[in-house]
Amino acid sequence: MSVAVAQAAERIDFGASGKAGHAMLTRLCDDFGGRLVGTAANRGALEQLASELRALGYAPTLERFTMPGWERGDDRVELVAPFARRLRVAALAYSHPHAAFEADLVAIGDGRPADYPENVGGKIALLNHSTTLPVREFVRTAAERGLRGVLFVDREAGGQLLARTGSFVGESLPIPVYSITQEEGGWLQRLLARGRPVRARMETRSRCAPVETANLVLRIAGRSPETIVVGAHFDSWDLGQGALDNGLGIAQLYALAHALRGREPGRTIELIWFNAEELGLWGSRHAAESRRDAPIVAMLNLDMVGVPIAVNALGDASLVPSLERWNAARAAKLPVGVQNVNWFGSDHTSFQLEGVRAITFNASIPRESVRYYHDFADSIDKLPEKIVADSAAVIGELVLALADGRELSATRRSPEETAALFTGFGLEPRMRGVGWWPLATKPSAR
Ligand SMILES: [Zn+2]
Repeated sequence: MSVAVAQAAERIDFGASGKAGHAMLTRLCDDFGGRLVGTAANRGALEQLASELRALGYAPTLERFTMPGWERGDDRVELVAPFARRLRVAALAYSHPHAAFEADLVAIGDGRPADYPENVGGKIALLNHSTTLPVREFVRTAAERGLRGVLFVDREAGGQLLARTGSFVGESLPIPVYSITQEEGGWLQRLLARGRPVRARMETRSRCAPVETANLVLRIAGRSPETIVVGAHFDSWDLGQGALDNGLGIAQLYALAHALRGREPGRTIELIWFNAEELGLWGSRHAAESRRDAPIVAMLNLDMVGVPIAVNALGDASLVPSLERWNAARAAKLPVGVQNVNWFGSDHTSFQLEGVRAITFNASIPRESVRYYHDFADSIDKLPEKIVADSAAVIGELVLALADGRELSATRRSPEETAALFTGFGLEPRMRGVGWWPLATKPSAR
């Protein structure tokens, strides 16, 4: 990536394209709402995005796949003692229907075996928000101890719920798990601590069901078949509009498409809107697996990326010199520069597991916008146009530098090097906890 290439990139007005991306996202959010995979809203919004890309002169394609899905039903968790009150709850994905039952509540601390009191069989557990265990681990222990359900207290105050997946492998949960608010969770914990009997009625109608869905792919052919993949997850949770998580990434990818109209980059640029990230990275797994033989130079993941302060090589040191040179050649350098720290749990992981170099940005979003993610208030009014415009400018420059530069080649890491990418950053326990370690056992999305 030469200085000349970096300067050429700056002449494209990515900021104006970012504003167009924000306007497109506003239509998507307001016309469809949250985009939980498998819902009519998800399908409608994906078709709308495709049609807006066609209006830019492109021919995007759908890459279909099937996966273990999940539908939210009319679930109810009601306090029956010491008084009647319907609790504010959101089932974790892959919670499964059961006949309504009533049971006493019991506090299980952080959900580790040592945290359990005696005689919890037949009860509903109240789990602290401070737990660090993956859902799969605490739910397994809870089911083994004979618990009938888990209420997981939220880490954010203010009546918020945190929608989240209960399984990265698509298994139905052995007992239902619900997010409940910090306020009601604390209330119940205080009653239990005073020895008051607390009893609830639980009825789960949410259900697991296979889903046919698709990623949306836009290929901007370059002079070389070598490819830069830029991905952002399209799906969101259903409680709000999914504006920050990850409408922001949808808008940033759209802004790239908008800015690159009529251009032929040096390398091919593939923009991929992944589906079903929130349920367990299903879309990016499908995309990465179906590109096993593709000459991918790098994959850039945009999941809740605000205005960048650093670019992150996600543990692959072979990327660092090129990223350093790119940042050094920029007029406005990233304040923190280049970082190299891997983390688990968004779509870059799927590509890393196939040996592809992955990149993201360190780009935190202001708390007044980001705190609502996965809940009701993740709506377009929380996303200032300026965040999309300013971030799109940095993202656009990096993508063009990767596409037009001659550095790096489409080589992949060996499986051993890939394993070291995770063990080197202490990610193995977390991955084992969700069922993704050892690496060969992770299930495929087909
Ligand atoms: Zn996300």
